[in-house]
Amino acid sequence: MSTSRFAQRLIDWQRWHGRHDLPWQRTREPYPVWLAEIMLQQTQVVTVIPYYERFLGRFPTLASLAAAPVEDVMALWSGLGYYARARNLHRCAQRVMAEHGGEFPRNPVAIAALPGIGRSTANAIAVFCFGAREPILDGNVKRLLCRCLGIKGYPGTPAVESRLWQDGAALLPDTEVDAYIQAQMDLGATICTRSKPHCTDCPVADLCVAYRDKRVTELPTPRPKRAVPEKAMTLLVLCMDSRVLLETRPPAGIWGGLLSLPELPEGEDAAHYCEQQLGLRTGAVVPAPTFTHSLTHFRLEISPLVCEVYIRPQAMEAGLRWLERAELAQVALPAPIRKLLARV
Ligand code: SF4
Repeated sequence: MSTSRFAQRLIDWQRWHGRHDLPWQRTREPYPVWLAEIMLQQTQVVTVIPYYERFLGRFPTLASLAAAPVEDVMALWSGLGYYARARNLHRCAQRVMAEHGGEFPRNPVAIAALPGIGRSTANAIAVFCFGAREPILDGNVKRLLCRCLGIKGYPGTPAVESRLWQDGAALLPDTEVDAYIQAQMDLGATICTRSKPHCTDCPVADLCVAYRDKRVTELPTPRPKRAVPEKAMTLLVLCMDSRVLLETRPPAGIWGGLLSLPELPEGEDAAHYCEQQLGLRTGAVVPAPTFTHSLTHFRLEISPLVCEVYIRPQAMEAGLRWLERAELAQVALPAPIRKLLARV
């Protein structure tokens, strides 16, 4: 494929049909560009926009984010999912303050050394903020290149990914790299979509191997199928008057660092556990309907047990908090816990 034709078509298409008005496109400042890039990992633009605006309203500068308690960052992220992103965001802001004098490094390799920033995100920041000439490889771009170049094999494997990096670098134009990278992202998001791509509207249809060979639905090669593991979790919905007991999850693992409902260890009796471990006397324990929630690597079957608490100790264990129902909107809760509390 001719590099210059491919890149030039994309740049021309971007000018007329690409996205120009997204909130993070109004700036070349690394802080908001980085924030948007992290939020856009695994999350659609329409979902990200209100979170992005709220986040910048609360933390208008990198310094304000670095100085904030991590609980405040998690609370603002609540509902966006993939919470490791929020923890890394906070750690990254602190590292930039401590090690780079509050200024993002300009070199993509130095950017990629910061917490939570992979090579593609680092390159995107370097291209959009510092005029670098680097390829990116997010999900949209992988799909576009696999189809256009007719690359077989699941793009998550090291061999295919390495080839995509090489081909992505070889296709870069000499100038207008930012418009070209934005065009790749936009074309992947709006034309070369995962299902039912709009090939007849595509500016590179005549250069596309998958289109020519009628292999559009085959590429990119899907992830090899494997059984999704399941885990079970019993959660205690402990209510007293209008308050509910919440527990901070350990920093690592499911919903690390977020507030959640206390988890009943496997094989424990709920009333006995509440009395012995939490110092609470409870009434009848009533099971609520079990439901499943899909996480990245497994499916979680959640069984809630609802108990009315009628005696509680004056001082609670560290990590446990009674919150009024009205306060729940202000704290970081995983989405399924928020939904469960709205139901019971
Ligand atoms: S022709 Fe179709 S498959 Fe090929 S790049 Fe364009 S939209 Fe994607």
